[in-house]
Order: sequence, then C-alpha cells, then structure tokens
Amino acid sequence: MNKIITIVGARPQFVKAATLSRQFNLLGIQELIIHTGQHFDANMSEVFFEEMEIPKPAYQLDIHGLTHGAMTGRMLEGIEEILINEKPDGVLVYGDTNSTLAGALAASKLHIPVIHVEAGLRSFNMEMPEEINRILTDRISNILFCPTDTALNNLKNEGFSTMPIQIFKSGDVMQDAALYYAEKAEMKSDILRQINLPKFVLGTIHRQENTDSIEKLTNIVAGLNEINRQIPVVVPIHPRTRNILKQQNIIPEFILIAPVGYFDMIMLLKTCELVITDSGGVQKEAFFFGKHCITLREQTEWIELVENGFNILVGSDSLKLAQAFESFKAKKSDFLVDLYGNGKAAEKIAEILKKA
Ligand code: UDP
Repeated sequence: MNKIITIVGARPQFVKAATLSRQFNLLGIQELIIHTGQHFDANMSEVFFEEMEIPKPAYQLDIHGLTHGAMTGRMLEGIEEILINEKPDGVLVYGDTNSTLAGALAASKLHIPVIHVEAGLRSFNMEMPEEINRILTDRISNILFCPTDTALNNLKNEGFSTMPIQIFKSGDVMQDAALYYAEKAEMKSDILRQINLPKFVLGTIHRQENTDSIEKLTNIVAGLNEINRQIPVVVPIHPRTRNILKQQNIIPEFILIAPVGYFDMIMLLKTCELVITDSGGVQKEAFFFGKHCITLREQTEWIELVENGFNILVGSDSLKLAQAFESFKAKKSDFLVDLYGNGKAAEKIAEILKKA
C-alpha cells in the first residue's frame, strides 16, 4: 500500500495514530488523516497533535455531541464522500469508537481494504457500545493487527481463522507511544510542579457504563473520597463526567483537574502511587510505568493484567475499591514481564502494510 487514509476521532486514537504516522513517514507511505471530530476540545484533541507531532488532519468532519446512531451515520456519510474522491489503497481504523466503525463500514462498502489496529479485543459485555464497534469492525476488516495473545485467541474462538482475513500479532502501539514519548515528557511537562504533591493516586473516570448510571457514579465518587482521606487522589476529569457530576450534584472531595495532554499524563503515571481508572488505555499505561491499577469496571479487555496480579477489577463497588486499595498498599510487583511487545508494534505494522 502506498496511500492510506487513517480515521481518528477520540483521544486514545490520537495516541495510537502518533506511533504509526511516524513509521509511515519513514517508509514513504502517504497517509491522509480524517478527524471525525468526536473529541474536539483543545485539551482532548489539539494538544495531542501538537505534542506528539501527528500530521495535521487532511479532513475535519466536526461531528460530535450526537446520539450513537446520528453520530455514526453522519460520520459514515462524510467519510464515504472523502474515500470516493481520494481512492486510498487502504483505510486504517483504531480501537473501538463510533469513528472506528463508521470508517470501517464506509470503506468496506466501497471495497477498500480495511485495516484494524487493536483487533480481537473483547469484554464480552454487549451493553458496551465499544464492544459492538469492535466486533463489527473486526468482521468487516481485511487485515487485523492484534496486540495480545488473548486478542488472537478471541478471534480464533469466533471462527476468524476460516475467513479470508489476514491476522497478525503486532504487539501494542500504546507501548510504542509510552516508550517513545517518556523522555520528551520529562523535559516538557510541568504538571508535577503544578500539583505539588509528594504522593498521590491518579484516577480517571469516563466510561459510559459508569457516567450514565447515577448510582454507579455516586458509589465511585464515594469510594475515591474515602481513599482521598488517606492519600490525595488526582483526577484529570473528562468533560462529560464533569458535566454529569455537576448536573447530579455529586460532590467529589478529591482533586479535579482539567484533562491533561499526553506528556503530563505520562508524568502523572510515572510518579503516582497507584492508578484507579475505567479507561482501557490507562490500565495498560499503569503497567508500562510500573504501577498497580484498580479498574472501575466488571470486565476488562486486558485480562492478562488481572491474571498477572497487576490489576484488580472492582466495578463501581466502593467496598471492593477500598479492599483493592488496601491490598495494593504493601504489594511489590515485577512489571518487567513482556505482555504487549517490545515497543516495535508500529514498525511491524507499517512494514506489513507497505508490502500489502
Ligand atoms: N489521557 C491523557 N490525558 C488525560 C486522560 C487520558 O492524555 O487527561 C490519555 C491516556 O494516557 C491514554 C489515552 O488518553 O493514552 C486514553 O484515553 P481514554 O482513557 O480517553 O480512552 P480509552 O483508552 O478508555 O478508550
């Protein structure tokens, strides 16, 4: 492939795209980026393009703030028009958002090969919009890049080995990003001086299954308030979560800060005592930076972290959260086990695509 269109729209996709854009550039593959606009605030989007030196999107669709159906539908229409004009050799999609599914669907109907990076992940919870997006995207893709053995096995169990789909285990591009940007973050980030705390726990909350249930969100905030009485909890808060907390009059006693850029996030991950999150990416990043993680979900796609004792799933149960916090207090783990590759996933993916 010599010309690839990459679809991004949400924060985790910017982090993933940064790693492959660099490799495409090195191999002389032309890449045009479509930004669907799913995340649009400067601190949820622009900061990543600037810090991570991601090429400016060739197309900005500006689609956000709609219901799932309306959002996906408008993206589908916008992406299709661009693909018809640009005629790329392949369309690359990342992860599990509405932008992922819209990109894959638009391309596959035009018989343009679809490449899915972060394929094969499953939570087995069909109530998650992400699970629906992942399953459908995998099924209509032509080339799948799996980050882990678990992902490969999931595809095998679903019969993918009998389908005309190329499947590769590439390792995880987020590990590439963590390794590549860690040094730059040390030099550029000022966040530790700003928060000025010798010890803290880092939290993030944005998953729809938590934010859309007042009961769950109330329990999570109560659990974090409790931990905050022992050690400060710092939460860069997702704009949607902030709005819901305000609307529902749920009062966090911990430290809320605006969403931070990737460099600041790396420094917070590197320095914190523990991570508490419902994010997919942040669970892995905790591991990359040698931190235990408590996950505010009932399932995870990153099951190897749980199996190896680095991560505990607590859902929205404040008692389980307190117990997990206690159990990690004195625990020491060896984080050197290789679960996600050696930081060369993007290189491997780009080389395969160059020959495809
Ligand atoms: N992230 C960030 N700043 C923040 C919160 C998250 O840079 O304030 C990064 C995080 O380090 C990871 C990515 O955003 O690389 C994950 O995005 P998110 O948690 O929104 O999505 P998920 O991984 O759950 O799909």
